[in-house]
Amino acid sequence: MAFAGGGWFYSRSHPTSTAPEISAPVEAQSNPATLAIDASTRLLIIAPHPDDEILAAGGVIQKARFFDAILHVVYLTDGEGYPVGVKAERRHGKILTPADYKAYGLQREQEARTALRELGYSAWSLTFLGFPNGGLHRLMTTYWSEHSKAYRSRYTRLYRPSVSETFIPDTEYRGEDLTQELAEIIGSFKPTMILTPRAEDQHVDHCAAWFFVADALADVARVHPNFHTDLITYIVHWNSWPFDHPGAAMPFPEDLDSGVSGWINVPLSPEQVRVKRAALNSYKSQKDVMPWFLDGFARSNEVFSRPAPPHITLPVRQSPCDDFIEH
Ligand SMILES: [Zn+2]
Repeated sequence: MAFAGGGWFYSRSHPTSTAPEISAPVEAQSNPATLAIDASTRLLIIAPHPDDEILAAGGVIQKARFFDAILHVVYLTDGEGYPVGVKAERRHGKILTPADYKAYGLQREQEARTALRELGYSAWSLTFLGFPNGGLHRLMTTYWSEHSKAYRSRYTRLYRPSVSETFIPDTEYRGEDLTQELAEIIGSFKPTMILTPRAEDQHVDHCAAWFFVADALADVARVHPNFHTDLITYIVHWNSWPFDHPGAAMPFPEDLDSGVSGWINVPLSPEQVRVKRAALNSYKSQKDVMPWFLDGFARSNEVFSRPAPPHITLPVRQSPCDDFIEH
C-alpha cells in the first residue's frame, strides 16, 4: 500500500567529507522518562517485520488510539524469510519455493491489518515497503547504490519490492532506495514521535533499521530544517531478555545504554494487556511456531529508551549488524 505522501523526492547524493555535518532533527533537550502522547501526537512506528509493532508497542498504540492520535506503521519487510514459519503454514512437505515465501509475506501483511484493527486503526495506517527479510544489513554496505547490482532475496529471488509495495518508482533492493523511501515518509508525515529498533538489537533487520532511520532523518533535516521529532528506540532481540524474567512486568534490559532520559517504562492496564495479547494472536503465522515469544511481550509494561541525536551517514564499509540472527 502506498503512503499518501507529499511528493518530495530526496536527493540520493549524500554529503561528502567537505560538506557540513547535518544533525538528525531529533529533540536534544533532556526529556522526562515518559512518552508524551496526546491528541496532537503523530506517531510513526518503524517495524522491520509484521508483529514488531505490537510486540514493542501494542500498549502505546492503544494509548495513541485513546487520544485519537494519528498513527502510521511502516513495515520494512513482509517477514517472508522465515523458513520454519513458512513450512508450518504451507503444509505441503515439498521444498519451499519463492512462491511459498511470497505467499507467507502476504499472509503476514494481512495479519498486520487484522492486528491493527484490534487496536482501532485501519489499514490506511499501514505501509508495507517490501524490502528483503534477512537482508537489510547487506543494503548498508555492498548493495547501497545504483553503481552495483541490487540485492537479491534468497527467499523470494526478487530484486525489488512488488509493484503494490513500491512507494517511489524504480525502487530496488538498494540501501539508498530504502533511505529515500523512509525520508519521503518521514518528511511527508512529519511525526512528532518515532519508535524504531535500536542498533544493539540482535536481529540483522532490526539493527539495520536503526541505521536507515538515522540516515533518513539526516536527509529530512536537509529538506525540512525546522522539523523536529522525539526519536524513541525499542528492542525485541536481546540475549534472553525478557524471557528470563517471568512475571507480570518486564525488567529493563541489562547491559544496554538507557539513553539520554533513562529507561522509559510504560505501564499497561490489565485491559490493555488483554487487547495487546489479542492483537498478537492475530499473527497466527507466528503464534503457530513461537507462542512463547509473543507471550513474552504481553506484559504489564513496555520498555523504551531515548537515544542521543544520531550522527550517521550511510553507507558504511562494514555493517555493525552482520553477526546477528537473520530470521
Ligand atoms: Zn522483527
